Amino acid sequence: MINQDRILAEFLELVQVDSVSGHERALADLLASRLKELGLDVYEDGAGAVTGGEAGNLIATLPARGPERPLLLVAHMDTVEPGRGVRPVVENGVVRSAGDTILGGDDKAGIVTILEVLRVIKEDQLVHGGLEVVFTIGEESGLLGAKHLDHTRLRSSTGYVLDCDGPAGTIVMQAPAQDKIEAVVRGRAAHAGINPEDGVNAIAVAAHAVARMNLGRIDEETTANIGVISGGKATNIVPDFCRLEGETRSLTGHKCRAQTAAMVEVLETTAARFGARVEVTTQTLYHEFKLDESHPAIVVAQKAAENLGLVSRLVKTGGGSDANIFNARGITCVNLGIGMQKVHTTEEFIRIDDLVTNARYLLEIIRVANAGDR
Ligand code: ZN
Ligand code: CA
Repeated sequence: MINQDRILAEFLELVQVDSVSGHERALADLLASRLKELGLDVYEDGAGAVTGGEAGNLIATLPARGPERPLLLVAHMDTVEPGRGVRPVVENGVVRSAGDTILGGDDKAGIVTILEVLRVIKEDQLVHGGLEVVFTIGEESGLLGAKHLDHTRLRSSTGYVLDCDGPAGTIVMQAPAQDKIEAVVRGRAAHAGINPEDGVNAIAVAAHAVARMNLGRIDEETTANIGVISGGKATNIVPDFCRLEGETRSLTGHKCRAQTAAMVEVLETTAARFGARVEVTTQTLYHEFKLDESHPAIVVAQKAAENLGLVSRLVKTGGGSDANIFNARGITCVNLGIGMQKVHTTEEFIRIDDLVTNARYLLEIIRVANAGDR
């Protein structure tokens, strides 16, 4: 039986274990021992060493009880800042932080959901086709854990990532690709009061370029942003250096690349016009995915919601998640809403009811996935 007190206690415990991206060691150790207690084989991969983090991804497997049909369950261990020293406050059926940090329900609500389901499966000796649980590192710092995950260890062809806002029943079946753009504009330094005509102002060149860019919402499925700019040393020096960082996203991959190319082009033509140089690097952080509504991962999630009287909603999102990486590697994954709210802010909160519903919903998904009555 799903146990609300147990879920809440474990959630409060986990949010108090610091796990800011790159510093997941303490949480990984705690979760590894908990997964072992629940009867899973636990392996920690080498992603931490590759990404400069303290811990690797945890890959845990539970052998099938009944016919084999392995299913992947994913949540991420890391949190954003300010995420150290979280003091959860429980009030009126809601868990929030004391106000000086995030709560970390993103994504510890996902982790707690998976642990509670594993516990119920063990206690009630439920039939299932085998579970593969992956707790990733570095999701918030660019899906680093998922990207460096040792995928050869996984046998599942379908999975569920528990890492989205919206209530249980929210099923993300489409997510964008994202490119990162970094540019360094190099001008020429000169004294601003004595010989400015000898200088090429890198900040002014960058400003011209940014002003010429098409930014914000490009079309219904494409966005672009310049989010960081820095450069210059003093007011009396014509700056020879200005650095820009930006991103593009689109639900259609080629639109993302086209928008990136357009921004690079603006940087290059503007720099040339003003006699500056520009070094641009672009990187595709992840690819888009779009699942067919008839895919079993979606059909099962919809049927499970229906069985519990939850409203199921197929949605597209503007954000990437570990699901983007798994889909690109051939494991079809949707991302599920787990009721977390105002994530990445100090006002983050989650309702206890949602924590309980998440567990009921995931358990039903596993049941439906194996029942063959879908
Ligand atoms: Zn998350
Ligand atoms: Ca997040």
